[in-house]
Formats: sequence, C-alpha cells, structure tokens
Amino acid sequence: MAFPTQARIVIIGGGIIGCSTAYHLVRLGWSDVVLLERAKLTSGSTWHAAGLVGQLRTSANITQLLKYSVELYDRLEAETGQATGWKRNGGLRLACNGERMTEIKRQATTAHSFGLEMELLTPAEAKKLWPIMDISDLVGAAFLPTDGQANPADIAQALAKGARAGGAQFIEDCPVTAVEVRNGEVFGVTTPQGAIRCSIVVNCAGQWAREVGKLSGVSVPLQSVQHQYLVTEPIAGVPRNLPTLRDPDRLIYFKEEVGGLVMGGYEPNPIPWALEGIPEGFHFALLDSNSDHFEPLMSQALARVPALETAGIKRFINGPESFTPDGNFILGEAPEVRNYFVGAGFNAFGIASAGGAGRALAEWIAAGEAPMDLWPVDIRRFAQLQRDRRWVLTRTLEAYGKHYTMAWPHEEYESGRPARVSPLYDRLMAQGACFGSKLGWERPNWFAPEGMEPRDIYSYGRQNWFGSVGEEHKACRERVVVFDQTSFAKFEFSGAHAEAALSWIASNDVAKPVGSLVYTQMLNKRGGIECDLTVSRLAEDRYYIVTGTGFATHDFAWIKANIPGGLEVQLSDVTSAYAVLSLMGPRSREVLGAIAGGDVSNAAFPFGAWREIMIAGSAVRALRVTYVGELGWELHMPVETALAVYEALMAAGKKHGIANAGYRAIESLRLEKGYRAWGSDIGPDHTPLEAGLGWAVKMKRNTPFLGREALLAQSEKPLPKRLACFTVDDPNIVLLGRETIFRDGKQVGWLTGAGWGYTVAKNIGFGYVRNKDGVPIDWLTSGRYELEVANERVPAALHMSALYDPAMARIKA
Ligand SMILES: Cc1cc2nc3c(=O)[nH]c(=O)nc-3n(C[C@H](O)[C@H](O)[C@H](O)COP(=O)(O)OP(=O)(O)OC[C@H]3O[C@@H](n4cnc5c(N)ncnc54)[C@H](O)[C@@H]3O)c2cc1C
Repeated sequence: MAFPTQARIVIIGGGIIGCSTAYHLVRLGWSDVVLLERAKLTSGSTWHAAGLVGQLRTSANITQLLKYSVELYDRLEAETGQATGWKRNGGLRLACNGERMTEIKRQATTAHSFGLEMELLTPAEAKKLWPIMDISDLVGAAFLPTDGQANPADIAQALAKGARAGGAQFIEDCPVTAVEVRNGEVFGVTTPQGAIRCSIVVNCAGQWAREVGKLSGVSVPLQSVQHQYLVTEPIAGVPRNLPTLRDPDRLIYFKEEVGGLVMGGYEPNPIPWALEGIPEGFHFALLDSNSDHFEPLMSQALARVPALETAGIKRFINGPESFTPDGNFILGEAPEVRNYFVGAGFNAFGIASAGGAGRALAEWIAAGEAPMDLWPVDIRRFAQLQRDRRWVLTRTLEAYGKHYTMAWPHEEYESGRPARVSPLYDRLMAQGACFGSKLGWERPNWFAPEGMEPRDIYSYGRQNWFGSVGEEHKACRERVVVFDQTSFAKFEFSGAHAEAALSWIASNDVAKPVGSLVYTQMLNKRGGIECDLTVSRLAEDRYYIVTGTGFATHDFAWIKANIPGGLEVQLSDVTSAYAVLSLMGPRSREVLGAIAGGDVSNAAFPFGAWREIMIAGSAVRALRVTYVGELGWELHMPVETALAVYEALMAAGKKHGIANAGYRAIESLRLEKGYRAWGSDIGPDHTPLEAGLGWAVKMKRNTPFLGREALLAQSEKPLPKRLACFTVDDPNIVLLGRETIFRDGKQVGWLTGAGWGYTVAKNIGFGYVRNKDGVPIDWLTSGRYELEVANERVPAALHMSALYDPAMARIKA
C-alpha cells in the first residue's frame, strides 16, 4: 500500500495502547486512522509484560475502564481469530498483618461500591485456591474472581487485527521524527518515509512518549524504570487455573505460566533507566538482569512459595516500563496543543488498562471531550513543575517504591519537596505547621501544638493530628482563624468581550456589576461539572477567577478551549502574583475592621462582593466568600506584602483568640456546611441538578450557556441520582470515602468524600443515591440507610440540608 500523505488521525506507537486506541476509533466509525510504529508492533514494553490483569483501583471510573478491558478480552479472540492467552482465573491478594487486613477489607468495600465481586477469605480458604503457598504468616486474603491474565503481545496483535479489519492502516519501521503544529493545533507528522498531514495526533509512544511530546512542546511526565520478573520451569502443584497472586507485604506478585510461575515485584529502591535518553535501536530488547537487586524479592518469594527453592529458572526478564509521579497513567488532550492526545505512562498496568484506556481515548477524540470523569489520569492534572525532568524522576521513583506499600489514608509524598511555597512558609513552619503538597505547593494541613512533632503518623484509625485539627475547627467556629491559601489558582479574564465569553462558559450569572463575586460551575456538553470556582468582576472588561490549587492546568485549559470563536478576550494565569490569606470565623469582621482601611460592615461589604481594602500598607483584594460556613474573607494581596498583612491580622486578632488553621480543618468545616468538593463530590459526571447545585445555575434567564441544553433535558425527567449527606454517630468508625450506600438493604451508591465533623460530633459522608426510576426527594428521605465500612454494615442517617448552619447555631445558643 502506498505511504499515505494524509489521514484524519495519526497514532504514534504500536504497543498495546496504540493498538487499542486504533481498534476503538475504528469501532466508532473513524476508519481514517494511520498507526505509525518506529520498529515492530509490540516491540516496546508490551512484548515482555507479565500479563496480570487486575481491575480494582481507587477511582470508580478507572475501575470501570479496567472492568471493560476484561469484558473486551473475554470476546477478543472469538471476534478477531487471534489467540490472546486470556483467562479469567481470578486474583488473590494477601494480608500478613492487621493494618493490611483492614486495607483489604476497605478495598473489598470499594470493589462492592464499584460493582466488582471481591470476597474475603481465611488463610485456609486462600490456600485452597493457591495450594503451593505457605500461609503461616497470613492474617487473611481477598479474592477477585473476575481478574485474569493474558499474553500481552497477543492481545495487542488481536486489537491491531480488529483495527485493520475496520480500515485502519498500520505502518511498521516508521518512526515519527517531528509533529508539526500550526497556530497551536496539530498539522501533521514527519517520518523518514514522508510527511502525513493530519488533524489529530495520538502519542501512544510508551516510554518514548516524553521525548515524542517534546517534539512539539507537550509535557508527558514519565520516567523509565527497570522492572524485573522471572519465569520458572513447571512446578508440581501449579494448575493452569491458578489465580494471579499479589502479596503486597512481601512486595511480590505471581502468575501461572505453562505450568510454572512468573514472579516479580516492586523493589523499594527502584533503578531508573535511560536518564540520557532511550538508546537507538532498543526494540524487542531487554536490560541485563540484576540479580543482586532482585535478591530481596527472591527471598520473600521463597518464603511464600517454598517449591521455588528447587524450581528451575527458565528466564529472567528485566524490562523497562514508564512510570509516572503519581502512579496513574496519562490520558487526554494535551493543554499545550489542540488536537494532540496522549495515552502513555502505564505504570506496569498497561495490559490491564489497555482495553478501557484505548476506548476512553478514542471516545475522547471522537466527542472532543472526555466521555466521563477521568480526572485521576487526566493529563491536565500536571503543571509546570512536572516539566522538570529531575523532579519527575525523584517523585516517580518514590511512587514506584510505594506500589505495594500500605496506601494510608491522608498519605503524602515526601520527595521533591518543597517545590512551591507561600511567603509565609517559614513563619508557619516555626508555628508548628505540618505541610502537605498539592501540585508542588506546600500547604499547611494542620498545626502541632507546642511539644508535639508536626508529622503525620498514619493508621486506619484516628491519626495523630485528629485532636489538633479539632482545635483549629473549634477556633474557626467560635473565634477566628487564618488559612494560608496562597496556592489557589488565579486567572484574569479580560477583553472587550469578557462578559459575553464568560457568560457562555459559566453556568451561573456572571454578567453582574463591577464589585460582585459569583460562585459558579462550568459545564460540559453533558451538563457535567468541569470547573467549580469563583468569579469576581474587577471592571467592565476584566474578571478575576479563583479555583482550587490542583485544578490550575485543567481549569485554565477548559476556559481557554471554550472561549467562543471571534470574541476578543485574553486569559492569563496570575497565580504567582497573589498570596491568599483567608480570615474566617464569627470574629473575623472585628479583626478586619480594626486594621482595614475601608468599610467592612455587611451593608458596605455584603456576601458575594469583593472590595479593595488597605491592610498594613498593602492594597488587598478582599473577597467576601466562604468555604467553611462562617463569616469571612479571602484576602488576596501581592506576594511581597503577605507577611506584613499576616502580622497585622495576627496582632489585631490576638484579643479574639485568632489561630492558624490548615486544610484538614477546612475539610471538616466544609463537610458540616455541605459544600461540595470538585474531584470527589462533584465532577464531569455529575450535573448541578444531581449535585444539589441547581440554585447556582442561571436556568431561569434565557441566556445560552455551555451545558444548558443537557440540563434542560434532564430537568424534564426524573433525576437518575442525587447527592445526599450521611452521618454515622459512632466515633470509632472512620469514614474515608468509597463506602457503599444501602437503602432498605439494596445497594444504591457509594460515598464520594467523607470525614469527621467536630462541631456536630459525627462522621459525615456525601454520596450519590442512584435509582433507575429516578430519585424523588420523598423516596430518598423515606429509606432506611446503612453504609458498608470495611466490609461491615453500619446504620447511617440521611440529611438533605447542611448539618451545620452558623446563623441557626448561634440563635439556638
Ligand atoms: C517487566 C514488565 C512487566 C509488566 N507486567 C505487566 C502486567 O503484569 N500487567 C500489566 O497490565 N502491565 C504490565 N506491564 C506494563 C505493560 O507492559 C505496559 O504498561 C504496556 O505494555 C504499555 O504499552 P504502551 O503501548 O503504552 O507502550 P509500548 O508497548 O512501549 O509501545 C510504545 C510503542 O511506541 C513506539 N514508538 C516510540 N517512539 C516512536 C516514534 N517516534 N514513532 C513511532 N513509534 C514510536 C515504540 O517502538 C513502541 O512499540 C509490565 C511491564 C514490564 C516492563
């Protein structure tokens, strides 16, 4: 076939991800697809993968993607005629101590929430499934009957066959050497065999994806890391249907292969590869095996499977694989270049992910927006920091080393810190701040009182900071606190058509007078919530947008991409220009009034307004808004004056008992007040109507806005799900999110976010209650509710309004 000069879509890379993307594009009717492979199909990481296919992840939608992989692999061989080696032999996971058992019980509940079977087993029951293992140290185990294993290269070839049959063209020995971008959009690719003009590029180049991205300024933050496993000769007592086995306390995994075992693991001290770039000609290639490095895993494996002692070793594999700084893969349209998609960085679960990830990527390309909430893997979760190769290396190695360690609630990464700090960083540290990190920013999570070390001690029970956060919470409810929220992402949106453009993108009414502040969502075509932020009108032609720290790249890209053509507006990121101190609590007006040049009375400065006031010689943009349910202001000021403003606030607040407070207190306060968090309680899969945010949508006005049609259509039918609040009184129970919701004994959803409310003295969780016939309020409120927590049911109360209302609480008092 002649080399094409034109194609609608060019996929770079013929590993399992590129093949799956091509297969699913073709199934969607997009057959004008060319896949270019540098060497031969599967010659990157795919050919030497071990082939375990697990499904459970901490995100519901990523679990759904992996579930779909299993469904696809079930039928792929029959559909394409290509053998895949796929079998659903189930997956076993072991626990060797009490904390791990708790983790496994919580994972079982997560699995149930997401519709996956996962049963808890005693050590003896586990041994029945895996007769050749030693169980003397086992506390228990869990079994996922639908997990399985496959021959990775065969799955990829089957997907390629299916894609070819549907019209996609695959060209091997054809490296892409350049991706041409014109006016910020993909224009074409260059290869030694010629150029191809195309409107969409999909970078599925595996561990080469970072270098390929760099060709056109796209950041793909991943790092190649060596990953080893061995394959034994047949071992007596290994049946063909032996489940895959994960033994995280020993950092190892197993699967059956031709009557023997594959055994690999995750060393705590991983070895990166190709720091100077991947060598030319590295295809169907392996690295030298490193038995010294593998030895600790080997001795763990021998203890688990004594028969390994005498088993012959058939092969040692040391293959490089791309890993990412947070252990999740990278999917979606790159924020830097329009129509440039990425599917890479699969952290040694690319075979398990390929079916679902390829489908999601194909649907994203076809629809022009993500088919569902894919935030945990969305390429827009990264920022400038992740362009730094060294930072990515350091954090990725930490993430790799944690692959099998306990995933503690509230756990923070330790490497690559501090990267971005507020001007108050040292000052707050001196006052006992224990920092967490988000998108590189150091943020005070909580403050240790004198005599206590500001360090998290993790557990599945109440952690060491529980009491301190309670004090901060109380100080905010009863007195006044300062939160350093400098890490907020801040944008300016300006130009002659700023009002018209923002009115289209925002679902609330932002065409308000100068001086006003509006809380709004921004919706996708499905009516799902893409952004949740505040918009302050600075001038007729200028808005100030404030959004969550982690959403900087995502929200900026969303707003930019949705500015209607032909309108004159500019969007700029001004995050680094402003520090933010949030002064919150019933005494905040007294504190602010004592030092502010400007009237801060309710009449002069009502809720939902912003004013410029002077504090300590600094012009401060004060936003009257709250996320904690108390009177308060977000004070935005030039970075260089933050320290002076902070000192002035603390001095004026002294007689009111002012205190520092951190993000864990914010979380507890907002749960009590019923404020939703984007990324957990709300997101692209949830509409404002489902989330109880219909009041923040300009539905009654006749102004068109993005997502309006979908909301209109939804408002004419019964809602399929509705966000509700649940409480559990028993303080010995810890809610963390993902607990299963039962109504009258029937599973109806799971908790999206949860924590402890110190004022109401209850566990609080939010979650969507689902029902195919609709969720009317009387049906919702008439049920008897229970939550499954760590595999056990506990009674729960349902609430449809905020648990805590400061005004009501004070009247009652
Ligand atoms: C030792 C080991 C064990 C593993 N075990 C498992 C497991 O048990 N289960 C599991 O789910 N996953 C496992 N994995 C992970 C899995 O192999 C990968 O996640 C998966 O293969 C990644 O597929 P990919 O398509 O992204 O990358 P690749 O398979 O590497 O494909 C990328 C392709 O892009 C091509 N390419 C690069 N640059 C260019 C260019 N400029 N132009 C054209 N083509 C280009 C390359 O040649 C390559 O073929 C394992 C990995 C290793 C290393």
